[in-house]
Amino acid sequence: MFHDLSLLHTLPAAVLVTQEGAIRFANAASMALLEAPSTDSLIGRLSGDFVHPMDRVRSTNRIQQVAVPEQGGRPNKSSEFRIRTLQGNLRMVLISSVAVEWNGAPAVLMCGLDMTHQSEIEAQLRESEQNFRRLFENMQDVYYRTDAQGIVQHVGPGVRRVLGYEPHEIEGRTAESYYPQSTDRDAFKAAIMEHGEVSDFPGQMVRRDGTVIDISISSHALYDHAGNFAGVEGIYRDVTQRKNLERELQRLATTDMLTGMANRRAFLECAESVYAHSRSNGEPLTLLMLDLDHFKSINDRFGHLEGDRALVAFAQAVKNQLRASDTVGRLGGEEFGVLLPLTSMDEGLEVAKRILHGVRALQLSDEAGHAYGITASLGLSTFRQADRSLRDMLDRADQALYLAKNQGRDQIASLEPLGEQPNRQVAE
Ligand code: GH3
Ligand code: MG
Ligand code: MG
Repeated sequence: MFHDLSLLHTLPAAVLVTQEGAIRFANAASMALLEAPSTDSLIGRLSGDFVHPMDRVRSTNRIQQVAVPEQGGRPNKSSEFRIRTLQGNLRMVLISSVAVEWNGAPAVLMCGLDMTHQSEIEAQLRESEQNFRRLFENMQDVYYRTDAQGIVQHVGPGVRRVLGYEPHEIEGRTAESYYPQSTDRDAFKAAIMEHGEVSDFPGQMVRRDGTVIDISISSHALYDHAGNFAGVEGIYRDVTQRKNLERELQRLATTDMLTGMANRRAFLECAESVYAHSRSNGEPLTLLMLDLDHFKSINDRFGHLEGDRALVAFAQAVKNQLRASDTVGRLGGEEFGVLLPLTSMDEGLEVAKRILHGVRALQLSDEAGHAYGITASLGLSTFRQADRSLRDMLDRADQALYLAKNQGRDQIASLEPLGEQPNRQVAE
């Protein structure tokens, strides 16, 4: 047996042949494993000397078992042993032994694989797996994966906090089930199909307790080996707080703090889109511009604070005459704008009269109990086919307001002929 020892020498596994425990042959890999400078430093030594004392009994038993005839020349099952090299380093080696004949006498051939780095890698893998698990469990985001039909295959534990469900309650159901309306997910699906991925895609979901939350999804499409769409994988997070903050900032940026009405910028922005809509649909549109009369004297007589209260009361009196579809805003100081969609000039005139009447009817009094009243002047303009932009309507309403002031205040004026009165003025 083993006429050609060069084969054993070239094996990548460490091979030792022992007789009565003493090493008779060592291949190159075993020398490397045991950190032996030459074969001579191994030949003749007891193989058991290299086994860690804690593993020595087990090692001896196994070698003895291999040698009994019942084993029939079959190798034993491989097992790991701690081995100490000639340099004194510890190695973890997976060893299997088999009874052989060596130079005409019974011998044991041992084959060993160095598992030292293997177990290091395993430990590293275990640690990184644990790190990943920890991260996954504590992640603020919810990881999820759906199949091609939109059925949730896997959802992370973050879903407990975000939606109030256990992961297993969600797995197996469609992702749509958690949207306020199942069609709300259509835009997301369309974006995923078109771009293959979405980032910070907005949406809403319903928690177990019924509350609707704002979410943001970042996901990508999954494809199978054949390149067919196989589902979606990604994360979503609860962005309700962020959205509420954004909504609040938006509200602050568009609202006039004193009256609660739209501020100038928001009014003009809204008016632009109403104007564009009315224009393209050929619908009538009327604009009112209001300015309080002699308001400086209100401030002078009762103080700025009382002036503020009068402004709030005035704003309310205007709003009282409007429909939800009308747009109203504070253009600045004590000047206001009202845009009345689907409103002809005659109808707009009626609204304007009601507003001025409501303002006149206000019974105000300062903190000392002095009663006073206020009036306002109003300029009215209506959409003309020749208008190039909303600006033209605003300019005409402005000029009309100037006219109303000049003609005595507390009245409506317009550059259009008002009703049966061609004198551009309505005094009541
Ligand atoms: P007119 O009839 O010509 O409009 O006279 P007026 O005194 O109202 O004159 P004008 O519209 O030019 O002046 C507006 C005044 O309104 C000036 C300012 O003191 C006052 N005003 C503007 N904004 C506020 C405000 O937020 N609070 C208070 N209390 N007064 C304001
Ligand atoms: Mg004024
Ligand atoms: Mg003014």
